[in-house]
Amino acid sequence: MSKEKRQIDAQTKVEDEAVSNFREYLRIPSVQPDVNYDSCVTFLKDQAKRLGLSFRVYHVTPRKPIVILTWEGMQPMLPSVLLNSHMDVVPVFPEKWTHPPFSAYKDENGRIYARGSQDMKCVGIQYLEAVHRLRNAGIRLHRTVHISFVPDEEIGGKEGMKKFVHTSEFMELNVGFALDEGMANPTEEFLLFYGERCIWHMHIHCPGSPGHGSLLLPDTAGEKIRVIIDRFMDFRQSELAKLANDPTLDLGDVTTVNLTCLKGGVQSNVVPPELVVVFDIRLAPTVDHDEFEHMVQQWCTEAGPGITVEFEQKCSKVEVTQLDHTNPWWLAFKAACDELKIKLKPQIFPAATDSRYIREVGLPALGFSPMNYTPVLLHDHDEFLSEDVFLKGIEIYEKIIPAIANIPK
Ligand code: ZN
Repeated sequence: MSKEKRQIDAQTKVEDEAVSNFREYLRIPSVQPDVNYDSCVTFLKDQAKRLGLSFRVYHVTPRKPIVILTWEGMQPMLPSVLLNSHMDVVPVFPEKWTHPPFSAYKDENGRIYARGSQDMKCVGIQYLEAVHRLRNAGIRLHRTVHISFVPDEEIGGKEGMKKFVHTSEFMELNVGFALDEGMANPTEEFLLFYGERCIWHMHIHCPGSPGHGSLLLPDTAGEKIRVIIDRFMDFRQSELAKLANDPTLDLGDVTTVNLTCLKGGVQSNVVPPELVVVFDIRLAPTVDHDEFEHMVQQWCTEAGPGITVEFEQKCSKVEVTQLDHTNPWWLAFKAACDELKIKLKPQIFPAATDSRYIREVGLPALGFSPMNYTPVLLHDHDEFLSEDVFLKGIEIYEKIIPAIANIPK
């Protein structure tokens, strides 16, 4: 078949309603920064009407809606299931895209190109469609299922999920377990995230004697900052070696360190009174936070007098969600996946998602976006998801949602 012929077929073939909904959602440019969420709310309200689900919008921050669609269970007093996704997407460089990033163009192979196609508008629509199909089949679940659409995950969720989990409205949802985003995987396996690393952003201030650039003054900022950078980079190297030498480890299992900013200096011939180095650190869940901080303090002492550490961000330790017999939600999730014969690859999420706020309030949460055989293109140019993978994902949720929402008391 010629390429042109296939193209026409792809455009004229009757499209699954779920795919059309997905593409419609993708065309809403809910792109950071300063997202206007109005169109998302309107779209979701229409979806709620179509599916016959109750619809609520909460505001923990003005103009940043938290949308909840609810399917009440037969035993609504039991802890509920939260199916979470975020509405916002990261910025684009349109000139780098083969197809306009908010066109949701579908090519002859069924690839749907759009910002948010992987991260994570796909998952939001898959939840809705799976619930729609279950309801159409006359199925009723024991537990209530809430499908949440939250703002601002891509800028840290500070005015979204982070605040929401501490409200009385969230308490009223009576959540027992949550599903949230995962990541695509190019191989057959589906990635499953049960924890995240902790973000620390550290500014190390190195003071020193200022003076003329022609002298050899004692106690300069440059000498100190060099020691600090050395220590951090040696540590970075050791983590890199750990990862390289143990094939069972993934990025999320080690601590990453990156030097992200260097500040200071006024003029080429003036020795500055201070130099500052900034590190982006992601602590593996196994790291003892006190020990790590003590180690950095030790490095500062070694580097010279007067060095101070300032935290721009210091996330406290969040316990991972257990993947064992103590967690009935996991057992149900796993049983559904086994039944579908899909292979899961449990991992620690290398970056951060809203799951951390859910886990922080003591709730188990799993990160799962059913996209296997898919290149990892979140935040990248030409982000796409194949129609087939998208549709398969709905079938997966059709098994998983009843499994977790029917766990007995
Ligand atoms: Zn995301």
